[in-house]
Amino acid sequence: MILRIEKIGLSIEADDELLNNLVEKGKSHYPNEFGGFLIGHYTGDNKHLHITDTILPKKFKASNYSFERSTKGIEKILRKYYKGNPQKFYVGEWHTHPDNNPIPSLTDISAINTIINNQESSIANPVLLIIGYSNTKVSFGFYVWFEKKLFRYEQH
Ligand SMILES: [Zn+2]
Repeated sequence: MILRIEKIGLSIEADDELLNNLVEKGKSHYPNEFGGFLIGHYTGDNKHLHITDTILPKKFKASNYSFERSTKGIEKILRKYYKGNPQKFYVGEWHTHPDNNPIPSLTDISAINTIINNQESSIANPVLLIIGYSNTKVSFGFYVWFEKKLFRYEQH
């Protein structure tokens, strides 16, 4: 899946295999939300992001309308990705919206601010992937925080 935001010139790519894996992991926690960290690398003057992997949180709190993950224990795994070729980074986060649309809630937006303001894992343009799903369909909402606003990636 390749998506773009023409207005700010960013594009994003996520492997189908990864997305299928996230959907499967997410659905196994139904009716609760579930999620994790997104790993990837940038190319093309940092304008193109390839999302390749996920790290699942070891600790989390979830209900059917909320998801809070802990970053405990992920540093080690991140270091392994960072030492790889290509070098990969923590680029954002994903979580599910069971029986709902992939539209960020107010909590989701304030969670992004927590990511940006985190001293240890500070990233300027974190990606937020929300997977909305029901019995019959799955929809992906890819967003990026850019210049203090949340933009949605559109499929082309
Ligand atoms: Zn949410």
